[in-house]
Amino acid sequence: MVRAEPDRYRVIALGANRSVGALAVQAKELRPERVAIADAGLEDELRAAVPRGTEVWAGPGALEAIARDAEVVVNGVVGFAGLPVTLAALAAGRRLALANKESLIAAGPVVQRVRATPGAEIIPVDSEHCAVHQCLRGGGRGEVRRIVLTASGGPFRGRSAGDLARVTVEDALAHPTWRMGPKITVDSSTLMNKGLEVIEAHELFGPATGIGYDSIDVVVHPQSIVHSMVEFRDGATVAQLSEPDMRLPISYALAYPDRGEAEFGALDWAAARSLDFEPPDRDAFACLDLAYQAGRAGGTAPAWLNAANEVAVQAFLDHRIPWTAIAEVISETLDAHDGTDPTGADVVMEADRVARVRARQAVERRVVTP
Ligand code: MG
Repeated sequence: MVRAEPDRYRVIALGANRSVGALAVQAKELRPERVAIADAGLEDELRAAVPRGTEVWAGPGALEAIARDAEVVVNGVVGFAGLPVTLAALAAGRRLALANKESLIAAGPVVQRVRATPGAEIIPVDSEHCAVHQCLRGGGRGEVRRIVLTASGGPFRGRSAGDLARVTVEDALAHPTWRMGPKITVDSSTLMNKGLEVIEAHELFGPATGIGYDSIDVVVHPQSIVHSMVEFRDGATVAQLSEPDMRLPISYALAYPDRGEAEFGALDWAAARSLDFEPPDRDAFACLDLAYQAGRAGGTAPAWLNAANEVAVQAFLDHRIPWTAIAEVISETLDAHDGTDPTGADVVMEADRVARVRARQAVERRVVTP
């Protein structure tokens, strides 16, 4: 994005968890004032690899520290570790381009509080939520009747529950439209990715629109061209369409409230195409309703859902449990949810830890020996 419009953006800081090599390559090209590495043991290696004069910040708080200075902070940290970056950017009153969904899902109530900081604003980078953000500009906030998230349906769309009992890790990793990491690809195969996105949509857009879980729907759309939709009270549905290309949501989040000048994912209407829509099979893909259940329960239940899902997906990727056991592990874990009120990030971290213990126990009861 910055390469596509070099005169528009200046990179002030870059950070990574452990990827010294990638960070050094980007620092040489983009010349930030400072770089940050979360793993303090890599400080010297990073210092030797970046251009002379670049400040090097290292250690557990380094990513949070660089999240306070820029006009726009892009949080692409993987997993729950992204929460401190989200909180730091919002507390500093920055615009947060959020690609990390766990921080919103697991710690929604905590994030909502710092979001009230003057100047603080979240622009979602997730393609569906970026689409909803765009569609919402088509009407007044009090005029929204429904948010409709589209789902590709993943590699197992159309399969019966019985058929799904025998799918393999390799089957689950063969996603039809998006190329992503193994965790999110498995989430896409179970529809948990969409379930997490329902919670994400509720956290992002619920406060301003007054929309609750009953007004957030999911529709399966295998071509992944319509990225999501908003229905207004007069019956009009506004949708955002483009080819699947994550550079467009990133460009949108960086340039907002303007539009980026570089073009990504524009559609070619000279070619014939059809767009299909169908309701999700909620019996075969039980994870979707588990997410609604956790979202409606609120409090730390979404944190439990997220933690249980991470444990279950890892066990599946390790060939320890079958695909169908992912939903079973999550369901059993949620049944043990203790209803703690998430008053701060520390409470959410503890909820995450407790839920993981429960989920591992549920996994052990389902381990299959090859
Ligand atoms: Mg998405």
